[in-house]
This record gives sequence, C-alpha cells and structure tokens, in this order.
Amino acid sequence: MCGVFGIFGHPEAANMAYLGLHALQHRGQEAAGIVSSDGEKLFAHRAMGLVQAGFTPRDLAGLPGDRAIGHVRYSTAGGSHIKNAQPFAVDYARGSIALAHNGNLTNYESLRDRLEARGSIFQSTSDTEVIVHLIAMSTHMAVEDRIADALNQVEGAFSVLFLTERELVAARDPHGFRPLCLGKLTHGGGVAHVVASEPTSFELIGAEYVRDIAPGEVLIIGADGPRSVFPFPEHKPKPCIFEYVYFARPDSALGGASVYEVRKALGERLAKEEPIAGSRDDTVVIPVPDSGVPAAVGFARASGLPFEMGLIRSHYVGRTFIEPQQSIRHFGVRLKLSPNRAVIEGKRVVIVDDSIVRGTTSRKIVKMLRDAGAREVHVRISSPPTRWPCYYGINTPTRDELIAATSSIEETRDYLLCDSLGYLSLEGLASSVAQIRTPGKLPVVKDAVNSHCHACFSGDYAVPVSTRKSPSQRPRLVSAG
Ligand code: AMP
Repeated sequence: MCGVFGIFGHPEAANMAYLGLHALQHRGQEAAGIVSSDGEKLFAHRAMGLVQAGFTPRDLAGLPGDRAIGHVRYSTAGGSHIKNAQPFAVDYARGSIALAHNGNLTNYESLRDRLEARGSIFQSTSDTEVIVHLIAMSTHMAVEDRIADALNQVEGAFSVLFLTERELVAARDPHGFRPLCLGKLTHGGGVAHVVASEPTSFELIGAEYVRDIAPGEVLIIGADGPRSVFPFPEHKPKPCIFEYVYFARPDSALGGASVYEVRKALGERLAKEEPIAGSRDDTVVIPVPDSGVPAAVGFARASGLPFEMGLIRSHYVGRTFIEPQQSIRHFGVRLKLSPNRAVIEGKRVVIVDDSIVRGTTSRKIVKMLRDAGAREVHVRISSPPTRWPCYYGINTPTRDELIAATSSIEETRDYLLCDSLGYLSLEGLASSVAQIRTPGKLPVVKDAVNSHCHACFSGDYAVPVSTRKSPSQRPRLVSAG
C-alpha cells in the first residue's frame, strides 16, 4: 500500500508535499519521495524510511517550483530498495514526466515481458515502471493522451499522479479500488489545487476537501485550472472495503463517509452479531490500539460493557505487520503493546481488533492478557475472516499464510487460545458502511455488498482471475504500494 499527494499552483509546493506526505505516513513507511517542477525542469528527492527522516531543509530547498507530487511507499517483503522508491522521474522524447502510484497492476508480468521483448530496459522491480515505458512508447502527441493510452493497457488498481513540466495529472482506475480525492488551498497568491490518497493531508495544510476523484476519471490540472476526461471503458465502481476496516486513518473520509464513524458502526454491529455470552460482571471491552479503538468504542456502547485501555501502545514503534520475518514480527507485538494489569487482572476481557491475517498478533495478545491475570479472553474482529490475498494494492500474504484460509473458526480459536472468537459478517460490514455513507436510508444488503471490492474476504475478484498470478509466481514483482 502507498500514499500519494500532489499540489499545483503553490509557491512552496515541495514544503506542502512534505507536510501532505506526513499526513499519509500510515499508508507507507518504507520510502518517501517528492518530485517538483518550476515549469521547465523536474527536481527529485527520494529516501528510504519515514518522511521526517528522508528530507532535510536542504533537500526541500533543492525542490523548487509551484507544483509537486509525492509518494510514501509500503511494499511486499524483499522489495525494500531505493531503486523502487517513488515518484519515478524520467526524460523521454517529448519531455520529462514523474509518477507516483498507489495500487497494483495485475497484468504487470505480461506487459513487462512484452516491453522487454521490444527492447525496454527496466531500472526497478516495481510494477509502476511499466506505465512509464507505455507512456514513452505511445504514438499520441499530447501528454494526457499518452497517459490515457498507457493506462488503457494496464489492468488492476491505480490511483496515480503524474507531473510534467506543465501539468499535474491525477487518474483513478475505472473500478476505483484505491482512494483519491481533490482539494483546494487558498493562499496569498491565489488558489492551489491539491490531490491526495486521503483528505487527512488537506486538513494538515489548511486545504479544503472538494470531492473524491471518480472511478475512471483523469483530472488534468494546468495553468487554466482542473478539467476531467473519462477515457476508460466503464466498470462498476469497487472501492476497497478494507480501507474502511483498517487502512485509512480514522479521521479520514472515504466516499464522503467518516472512517471513524464507519469503524464505530462496525463495532456496534459486531456486538449484535457476536454478543458475549455468560456473566457480564467484571467484563471489560479492550481495543487493540490503534486500529481496533473505534470498533471497540462501538462494541462497548452497543453491548453496554465498560471500555478500558487494557493494552498500552508504545508510540516509538511502527506497524509491526511490515516486518518481513516471522521471528521479528513475533517480537514486534510485545515491543508495541504492553498489558495494563490494573484493568485486566481478574476480569473477563473482550478484545476487539480490526482483522486477523496470520493470527500472530491476536495469539500474542491473548497470551499477554492471560499472563496479566485475565480470567477469560474473548476475541471479536470487526471484519470477516481474511481468506484471500489482495491483488489490488493491500499487502497480504499468500493464501497458505492466511489463518482463515487454512483453518475453520473453531481451529483458529484453538490456535489463538481464546475462550471465544467472533467475526463480523460481510453483509454486516457492507451494510454498516452503506449506513454511514447514506444516513437515514435503509441499505439493501445485496447492493451494499456489490458496491465494494471485498475480495480479501470473499474471493470475489473484480478484475478477472485469468489476468492474475499469485505473488509466488511473480518473483520480479514488487508491489508498487
Ligand atoms: P496478523 O498478526 O498477521 O494476524 O496481523 C493482524 C494485524 O495486522 C491486525 O491487528 C491488523 O490491524 C493488522 N493488519 C491487517 N492487515 C494489514 C495490512 N495489510 N498491513 C498492515 N497491517 C495489517
């Protein structure tokens, strides 16, 4: 997974991009980069690690101009290398172009084979680079037509920003798998247009959210302001439901719906679908911080149980899931979370988290809580069992590593060593999202389910299976993010 940010028409474009990327840091911590332009040339800086560590004031001063795009990157294991850091910037026959991509291209392998057979030389192992080659090879004259031509040949997920000397172009694939939104920032010298994966970046720089960029839309921002074209064949929009569950920041809004409110609603629904049986005395609801907090608030409220902070999170450790080796990941949970004995000892504990992937985190937490004196531990998950890998930009392991793909719920409960385990249903998840998106309207469950991508839970892939290869069959592919 990755985050992208772009700004056009601001005297401090690179500084704004730097701030914008800070507010997207949760979408990728592996590398960060900014490319700016003064209208004549492109200037680039990329670095491994967090945004804060990657840019000194001198680096930012070396990025002049009133337009810039930026990227934070999070890839699959093994691809952590500066050559894969974005934005990519290249010179080709008709000028310079930079691009920053969030998503995964499902036909990357076949496109790369085709391009290499025609003589293209790749500099990275990232799927995003095929877009650069396709633009360079396009026979169209105008850059927006070259971009549309290239994007019409790729399949899968892309929310992608391009920067040329003259324009900033933002494009979202016809399914709209990954988010992308538009804002505007009024400053002393006029109005700057901003685009970002999530509106959290707008908040930070004082920009105003205007709207989401529509699935299939290509927005061209030039000296005359923004204009849109829709150059792709139409598809039913399938924005990723997992953004609501886990990925987006809780203070974000996706499709106009507050992510925090959605997560709370998921917790409330979960409390109804998977209530805690038996005595309510001494029962406390505890979130797995930070991602489980809003759902735990909703769960506690709907079940009338007290909400307590029974796990304390260290703020000096990043997302543990990102550690590639199982051994480090195991250690990482302890490093990140410690039990708060005062609220756990002698209690029946209901622990609420957003998802279980391999089961490593939940198993560690259950043990931690028992060691801290919990009498019983009940696990509640505010999404359905994760049974399928994502091919559209979320970093999930192969099927055999997904505990819900290889074990029944009862076997998973056994593995986690908890007293009970309950997941939210797909119908419950989708209708809770729909309820927050269109308040006051009773959702039709089937429509709610159909209006999102939920392949990780259902195996229902919107882009045909024949174009996909499993990650183990794609040794060269490194998810763009
Ligand atoms: P696991 O230990 O593999 O079961 O990981 C589950 C934890 O990872 C949950 O607490 C989630 O909050 C988090 N998580 C789920 N999916 C992802 C993802 N794609 N990237 C990073 N973290 C994730």
